Amino acid sequence: SSPDARTPLPTDGSAAWFERAHRVTPGGVNSPVRAFNAVGGTPRFMVSGQGAWLTDVDGNDYVDLICSWGPLLLGHAHPEVQARVAEAVARGTSYGTPSRSEVELAEEIVARTPVEQVRLVSSGTEATMSAIRLARGFTGRDVVVKFAGCYHGHVDSLLAEAGSGLATHAVAGTPGVPAASVEATVVLPYNDRAAVEQLFAQRGGEIACLVTEASPGNMGVVPPEPGFNEFLAQTCARHGALFVSDEVMTGFRVSRQGQWGLDGAREGWAPDLMTFGKVMGGGFPAAAFGGRADVMGMLSPQGPVYQAGTLSGNPVATTAGLTTLRLAADEVYAHVDAAAATVSAAAGEALTAAGVPHLVQHDGNMFSVFFAPQVDRVVDYVGAASQDTAVFRAFFHAMLEQGVYLPPSAFEAWFLSAAHDDRAIGHVLDALPGAARAAA
Ligand code: PLP
Repeated sequence: SSPDARTPLPTDGSAAWFERAHRVTPGGVNSPVRAFNAVGGTPRFMVSGQGAWLTDVDGNDYVDLICSWGPLLLGHAHPEVQARVAEAVARGTSYGTPSRSEVELAEEIVARTPVEQVRLVSSGTEATMSAIRLARGFTGRDVVVKFAGCYHGHVDSLLAEAGSGLATHAVAGTPGVPAASVEATVVLPYNDRAAVEQLFAQRGGEIACLVTEASPGNMGVVPPEPGFNEFLAQTCARHGALFVSDEVMTGFRVSRQGQWGLDGAREGWAPDLMTFGKVMGGGFPAAAFGGRADVMGMLSPQGPVYQAGTLSGNPVATTAGLTTLRLAADEVYAHVDAAAATVSAAAGEALTAAGVPHLVQHDGNMFSVFFAPQVDRVVDYVGAASQDTAVFRAFFHAMLEQGVYLPPSAFEAWFLSAAHDDRAIGHVLDALPGAARAAA
């Protein structure tokens, strides 16, 4: 049946909650990407998540293709994660002293990635903010280089031409960030070697670090051209700048070793610093930055660069993250890779059949669909921004009506999990042709 022929899903409950939320919270949401400003309509208020499915206050079920914006590699309410978390909660929720699970989580991260030491924090924003402070403290230089379309959290100095919610809402920066905070930030086009070379030739001696998403997922998925990350690592090394690879989104998701497992491990280079979040928190607020021992050794209390956190390394969050990473074995990645391949191929076929111009781009199991872009391949933010968001809007709502919850923005990756089984994937595949026709 076509989506138009169905009775619309009931949304009275979500609408009522959204109205209440609006009274006490700006825009009714606690993170802008959750709002439907870009697509119109009412975001759904969820009451539970199980496996691949979300259920809202009106009793509607959706296959979840957001997975909490990346963290839920194992799906919602994984029984073992829940059991370990319940045990941890029973032992107390925060000690404010060192504890065992934070060491074990750090060991797991060090075992999977090239970092020698990590410091745990509570969000990806904190991780990149701290990594940049450390890079500046270590090098004694101020300039930070980033790429247009890369989002590294809502850090003052990194909000220049960031993707994610800023792309969705079409603003380049934000009021409230003093000019002085971005004065030392240089923004370059992604995948553009010549621009990087030129900047380092001119200002190499002033650059503390270059920070990049290991494979950008916040302007839609725009993978690095082959060898691009290696080139960045080498360029930084030549100029005494640090290479900071932000794996908050890709870390422990696109492979056991994150994006580094897909390029650096093979090519034989390592970032000086890395940032992690999302999957390593198992659905709780936990994130990390880490890297070379000599650089990390500059951090307080060992060194002079100050950084701290009341709930950093929280025993419940680190238990959730540790359990998730221990369960994230090769079979999990094989399943998520296959599920992503199936869904992305079906999305492409449905859009082609309906005559909707589009591009499907992948980085391993992370992918996104660009709707009616003006380019043959999206390699940077200009290409990503050339899509027709009205086409996405129609597609999004037709998917939602059929019980598939996509990120409400054309600039976001679609996420799957180990819990996306044949039933959940079948449900998505059934919805795609009607949604593609609605977008035509
Ligand atoms: N870095 C990247 C690559 C991200 O995708 C995000 C969030 O989407 C962040 C940093 C910020 O993380 P958080 O939202 O936990 O502050």
